[in-house]
Amino acid sequence: MEAGGGEDCCVKVAVHIRPLIGDEKLQGCKDCVTVVSGKPQVQIGTHSFTFDHVYGSTGSPSSAMFEECVASLVDGLFQGYNATVLAYGQTGSGKTYTMGTGFKDGYQTGIIPQVMNVLFGKIETLKHQTEFQLHVSFIEILKEEVRDLLDPTSPEAANGHAGKVTVPGKPPIQIRETSNGVITLAGSTEVSVSSLKEMAARLEQGSLSRATGSTNMNNQSSRSHAIFTITLEQMRKLNPAFPGDSSPNESMNEEYLCAKLHLVDLAGSERAKRTGSDGLRFKEGVHINKGLLALGNVISALGDEKKRKEGVHVPYRDSKLTRLLQDSLGGNSRTVMIACISPADINAEETLNTLKYANRAR
Ligand code: ADP
Ligand code: MG
Repeated sequence: MEAGGGEDCCVKVAVHIRPLIGDEKLQGCKDCVTVVSGKPQVQIGTHSFTFDHVYGSTGSPSSAMFEECVASLVDGLFQGYNATVLAYGQTGSGKTYTMGTGFKDGYQTGIIPQVMNVLFGKIETLKHQTEFQLHVSFIEILKEEVRDLLDPTSPEAANGHAGKVTVPGKPPIQIRETSNGVITLAGSTEVSVSSLKEMAARLEQGSLSRATGSTNMNNQSSRSHAIFTITLEQMRKLNPAFPGDSSPNESMNEEYLCAKLHLVDLAGSERAKRTGSDGLRFKEGVHINKGLLALGNVISALGDEKKRKEGVHVPYRDSKLTRLLQDSLGGNSRTVMIACISPADINAEETLNTLKYANRAR
């Protein structure tokens, strides 16, 4: 097995092991995941995997995750680099808890709230020399369709209660690519925010609006990918070449940068058969797998140095998810995948699948 590190790779992979939770304890589940002491290595049965980092259980504490995996991505935003953080794993493995997408659940410790804190802290220290503009969007992809979680015309926006009414005649959101390779979401709401409070309110609004459906596995099961995107625009005033020189051309002394950070709470990675549903649900399962399958292929192609040098085709177009993330996965952008797992023996099969998927990304 290869050693950890991966400094020169564009995709970092971490594993987050949650503790056994109430239901599992009640069922008398045993912990079947072992962390090799002092190493970012996990063992399950006869399988052993090494990642860039391992958190939770007896690995490093989860509180280190933000500093080690995400803080540099937030710094990169200020230098104009796009980035993506992905939480992968079966339903109930802790994706929403890890990302902080659920607003209430793990709200203070989740990655998104910590990103917000650091982001606004940095802006505060830089605002004298730089003008900032922040936008957020929050969408979900369900059955290969993009849904706007910040739609101001949705009933959730008005009264804060979940309930689904589609506005007739509203055109579907479309993923487009500009001539210089920038991916845009035509028709989705982009909200300008100027404070942490405003941004947190959008996270809450979208979280409430997120579609959930009940399956045999978990009645809060999420079959959709939820993507919270922060766009940072900056206009930096550069020091004039000669102090006191009032240049006639103002724009010569300004630098414009724009970068975005996608924070992605992926759909449950369990196989459709395990949800035990038929018909409609099964179709949804198939579509979800399409996004996760494409993501695995894209990340694997990006991580393979040899393939990359040969200029091998990266299959971004195979799903809405990878298409949307295209300009923020690979190239100059930074990507972190956090594989979330349950330590319980009843989940061993899915946990092994998750570790295999994550291992392919390295
Ligand atoms: P997912 O989004 O992958 O379906 P959740 O984030 O909803 O999973 O987590 C499932 C349950 O496990 C929730 O009750 C959550 O509070 C709990 N949980 C998840 N991760 C942790 C953790 N690191 N520590 C404590 N409880 C956790
Ligand atoms: Mg979830």
